[in-house]
Amino acid sequence: LLVLGIESSCDETGVALVECEAATGSPEVPRLLAHALYSQIEMHQAFGGVVPELASRDHIRRVLPLTQEVLTAAACTLQDIDVVAYTRGPGLAGALLVGAGVACALGAALARPVLGVHHLEGHLLSPFLSADPPQFPFVALLVSGGHTQLMRVDGVGRYALLGESIDDAAGEAFDKSAKLMGLAYPGGPLLARMAEAGNPKAYALPRPLLHSGNLDFSFAGLKTAVLVQSQKMLAADGVAHFEALPRSQQCDLAASTQAAIVDVLVKKSMTALKETGLNRLVVAGGVGANRHLRSELNAASAKRNIRVHYPELHLCTDNGAMIALAAGMRLQSGQQQASMAYAFDVKPRWPLDTL
Ligand code: ATP
Ligand code: MG
Ligand code: FE
Repeated sequence: LLVLGIESSCDETGVALVECEAATGSPEVPRLLAHALYSQIEMHQAFGGVVPELASRDHIRRVLPLTQEVLTAAACTLQDIDVVAYTRGPGLAGALLVGAGVACALGAALARPVLGVHHLEGHLLSPFLSADPPQFPFVALLVSGGHTQLMRVDGVGRYALLGESIDDAAGEAFDKSAKLMGLAYPGGPLLARMAEAGNPKAYALPRPLLHSGNLDFSFAGLKTAVLVQSQKMLAADGVAHFEALPRSQQCDLAASTQAAIVDVLVKKSMTALKETGLNRLVVAGGVGANRHLRSELNAASAKRNIRVHYPELHLCTDNGAMIALAAGMRLQSGQQQASMAYAFDVKPRWPLDTL
């Protein structure tokens, strides 16, 4: 079963070809044949964030060349595609419509069925494309630019929400703190790089909701604490901009911020595992690429005999591979059928646990 996956929910156009066994075939692991990605980040950087209309227009420009690129890389033709999958939501409506429209047009032209996929299900299942794929059931820590959730996952489409952020997502906390530090959008990975040269204990920042007694998160207050701390540092040094502070101070605040975010993510993940009695953790979403998060999760898990599974680094942030994979796994598990109706809608807001 050769699945073409198209991702266009935000500011990355991703296209990929994933080979999955048919429902009757052997339970072979899905294989990524090719994937191509175009990131619009540079275009949006001038505005400090994603401009939805520009994003939609750029997806239109990129999606067919990327499709051609993956077909060539996989030595396949359009005719080899069995199913076309696209991101149906959540995301920016206009951006989603581009992927949905192209997927349905391709499906109609090739007389192949089409399937709309949940973007977060894509993130959540992405570790199945890694060299060390997980097994169900597991606890999933979904940490992306727009979401921070702990889920109990019992199988494809069987997702129970255990807790989530009541305000900013973890990726947002990284990005907004990074912005305060004068880093370009999206600053998460840049802040993480600065943090490697800093002392995580230099500044005491809050660990919001750490002792809330539930599995919810809150990161909005942390961002304010970072702002207050940086203002204190500017006043003490008599400088006007964060970039004018000594490099070591900048790195120390980055490290302290990262430590605060990671600390909460790790502790709540461990609580979720304890409460569910499960011993497998799957980490997904862009923040899952964070090295400090990975090392702290690995350390905490080793003590408790827990296995942690991550997506390949290049599949942590948005990509078409996870969309093709999620479609393939939904079809294989009998959770859903692909449609030849080619009528599409998108769901800009779409809670994962309603699947
Ligand atoms: P969603 O999936 O919730 O709709 P999204 O698609 O924008 O949101 P992703 O593409 O999964 O989110 O991840 C992007 C986020 O991951 C950004 O906030 C980015 O800063 C963050 N991120 C990526 N790499 C790192 C890293 N190494 N350290 C910290 N944050 C990171
Ligand atoms: Mg993105
Ligand atoms: Fe995403």
